[in-house]
Amino acid sequence: MAKPIEGGCQCGHIRYEIRGNPKGLAVCHCLDCQKQSSSAFGLSLDVDPAAFHLVSGTLKSFDWTCDSGRIKTCTFCPECGSRIYHGGEWGMSLKAGTLDDTSILRPDSHYWTKRKQNWVVIPEGVFQCVDDG
Ligand SMILES: [Zn+2]
Ligand SMILES: [Zn+2]
Repeated sequence: MAKPIEGGCQCGHIRYEIRGNPKGLAVCHCLDCQKQSSSAFGLSLDVDPAAFHLVSGTLKSFDWTCDSGRIKTCTFCPECGSRIYHGGEWGMSLKAGTLDDTSILRPDSHYWTKRKQNWVVIPEGVFQCVDDG
C-alpha cells in the first residue's frame, strides 16, 4: 500500500493520515470559501471518509447551511481554529492546505469562477464552472 498522506492543523494539536488516494481537488472561489479561508479561494480535496484517520487531537465541528440549502459539517482544531474538513452526505472535503506536503496538489476543477479574484489565472484545460455546477 502507498504511504499515507499526512497533515495537521497550524498549531500541531490535530494530526491526521489519509490512507488511499484522494479522488480529486477542487478550487472554490465562492464568497463563503473566501471568508472561511480568509484568502482568495478554498481548496477541497475529495477524500473517502473511511480513508481519513485522526492520529492525535480532538476535533470540534459545527453545522453550516450553504446558499444552496445543503448542510455541511465544518470540522476544525479547537486550539488554533484551523479548518480541517467539511463533511456531509456527499462525503468529505479535506482542506488541502493542511497537508504537510502541498506540492502534490494539482487542482482538476474550479467552481464559482464568477466570484474569482481577477488576478487568479486558471490553467487551460482545467474544468471550470461559473457557480457550484
Ligand atoms: Zn491546531
Ligand atoms: Zn466555496
